[in-house]
Amino acid sequence: MTHEIAVIPGDGIGQEVTPAAVDVLEAVDADFDFVEGDAGDAVKEATGEALPAETRELAADADATLFGAAGETAADVILPLRDVVGSFANVRPARSYPGLDAVQPDTDLVFIRENTEGVYAGIEAEIDDGVRTLTRVITEDASREIAEFGFRYAKRNGFENVTIAHKANVMRETDGLFLEAAQAVGDSFDIDYDTALMDALAMHLVMRPEEYDVVICPNLAGDMLSDLAAGLVGGLGLLPSANVGEDNALFEPVHGSAPDIAGQGVANPSAMILSAAMLLDHLDYADEAAAVREAVEGVLADGPRTPDLGGDASADDVTAAVVDRL
Ligand code: ATP
Repeated sequence: MTHEIAVIPGDGIGQEVTPAAVDVLEAVDADFDFVEGDAGDAVKEATGEALPAETRELAADADATLFGAAGETAADVILPLRDVVGSFANVRPARSYPGLDAVQPDTDLVFIRENTEGVYAGIEAEIDDGVRTLTRVITEDASREIAEFGFRYAKRNGFENVTIAHKANVMRETDGLFLEAAQAVGDSFDIDYDTALMDALAMHLVMRPEEYDVVICPNLAGDMLSDLAAGLVGGLGLLPSANVGEDNALFEPVHGSAPDIAGQGVANPSAMILSAAMLLDHLDYADEAAAVREAVEGVLADGPRTPDLGGDASADDVTAAVVDRL
């Protein structure tokens, strides 16, 4: 069966790493039709719209979407795209790789980030000169849904421990509800779980990441803690992610458009290629997904490596080496 994959490179290094993921998907034994769409700063400048209706439709109609990165227009692109695919869960695995220098070489954990509300609900206002507010939205339904997803994910993938991140001692109403809903779900699963204040959790993750398996987080906390974990394992060039909905999903690296290195061809394509591996898993190509991960691991261990990992290879060199191994 042919699957249609929407490909949206976006801005900056999104333009450089997305073709790498497509090359890798073309190299595995799977039947894909790729349809490319525009989004981001450049298309906004040309047309006035960061996410054209055609691109939105591509993502809605495709079996899955690969997204690179968006720059200044990120909020106008990725938030609606996550909405288009009905994504309520953002899955962000962070693991260290053999042979790579990492601050914490025993890291292997997965952040399950609530993807629709919290402080990213987009409700901001200027209520007076020099006074602006933001409304943090937490609902019982979304909290229960993300917790159910997180606990099911932990069970399905053989993880032994779940941590619920929150700050209910300060954000009593919003995180109070998040925590209550997530704990009720935890109680219904046959799996160990803990709760952790998100600020203290940041410290524990840096000092003892090996103690954590699956971490269920409200939206902003999941965004920040996963970037922190990227620092533990070798940088943002290594972290993939999946935005998962009921019937559709979008796969993107955790990193953004990286304007500081864009256009030089030196972005690490691993995060994007590992996102493509998550896409393969999602479409039930488990063997192919495992093969892609193994190829990436091999290249990370033996090189070539991009400058963020201490090498001097280009994104194309790394991609060619991964494709070679496949
Ligand atoms: P966003 O807010 O859009 O998620 P960000 O603030 O996380 O973006 P990035 O664009 O991800 O910022 O870049 C943060 C830093 O990480 C930059 O110094 C960038 O060069 C580096 N970086 C990000 N992705 C990669 C990559 N694939 N390869 C090498 N370096 C990267």
